[in-house]
Amino acid sequence: MTGSLLKEPVSLYIHVPFCSKKCPYCHFFILPDSKENQTFFLEHLQKEWLIRSPLLQDKEIVSIYFGGGTPSLLPAESIEMILSWIKSGPAPLSSHCEITLEANPEKTEKNLMQDFFKAGINRVSLGVQSFDDSLLKLLGRTHDSHAAKKAVEAVYEAGITNISIDLMYELPFQTVLQWEKSVQEAIKLPITHLSLYNLTFEPGTVFYKKQKTLSKNLPSQEEAVAMLNIATSLFPTAGLNRYEISAFAKNNLFSVHNIGYWTARPFIGLGPSAFSYFHNRRFRNIPHLKKWAEQITQGILPEDFEETLDLASRQKELLAVELRLLQGVDFPSFIQKHSPLSKELEQSIQKNIQNGYLQFSGPILSLTKQGLLFYDSVAEELI
Ligand code: SF4
Repeated sequence: MTGSLLKEPVSLYIHVPFCSKKCPYCHFFILPDSKENQTFFLEHLQKEWLIRSPLLQDKEIVSIYFGGGTPSLLPAESIEMILSWIKSGPAPLSSHCEITLEANPEKTEKNLMQDFFKAGINRVSLGVQSFDDSLLKLLGRTHDSHAAKKAVEAVYEAGITNISIDLMYELPFQTVLQWEKSVQEAIKLPITHLSLYNLTFEPGTVFYKKQKTLSKNLPSQEEAVAMLNIATSLFPTAGLNRYEISAFAKNNLFSVHNIGYWTARPFIGLGPSAFSYFHNRRFRNIPHLKKWAEQITQGILPEDFEETLDLASRQKELLAVELRLLQGVDFPSFIQKHSPLSKELEQSIQKNIQNGYLQFSGPILSLTKQGLLFYDSVAEELI
């Protein structure tokens, strides 16, 4: 047995908080992009890495995710530099470590993607959102559908063949036909993964202020179900099989990073506003560049929120989240990993089974077809 087999897998998330423009629905912590901001950020990111990396002793890094923001606004040399810090830290990278870079279709050109590939990026997640130009305009995106297709092709031609795209559905003014067209466009592209999102109106966003008007124009419940049915029936025709409520993958190229979130793999987040989950402690970095940097400079953990859930609450949350995976939850292993379930949780599971939302198949507990449609109710009952 090699040493690496004994190491616990962990993931890293790096929040790069820069965008060229703020989308009206976006609730992430982002800042205008500038050379000055990037330099300041990188300087303190390295310091944060030095403070946090000792935690990774005896661990193995199985995924690194550059999210944001738009991390592809950083030059490839900066990404290479961050990866070199990580590689010289205490935890080795697994032999197939997934290293994802989020990018927006704007400025996603082949040469640039080749540079990212050389820097170590082996997966790109593109924020396509839609292939309908009127909806892209409504969403305040800086690209059109042509640019989105070109961007996927550019990434592929650059040699990064593990490509994920995000698509949004249930948008204001979106028709079922428009959605079907977007799905048809998506499946023609050389993508390996796809994540679906629907719009949420988050406080502090432009859309939140316009919620009343926009909500009136959201698709009806029947249309939303029709949209989901189109996705779940058409994506598999292109080999994109549903493996999580909102995620589809070709050739089992599941998102290693996201599977970690769904199965309680520990992860460390770096950068302002980044979340972490480690040793049952969940914590968040200060969502403010200067304040985050000040704390780091003083050698203080730059956090503004933390919680350690008690065993019963943890079991509920972990079970609800892991049930998002269509393969379900191996019940005996879950209990072995997270202790025998509380009576309350056992009762909630039974109630969901009686409602037709959960089912046992041997030792595997999973969502039924109805449960997949009404996952929010399942989670609410469990938590
Ligand atoms: S590109 Fe993404 S992170 Fe940036 S503002 Fe738009 S939604 Fe937010």
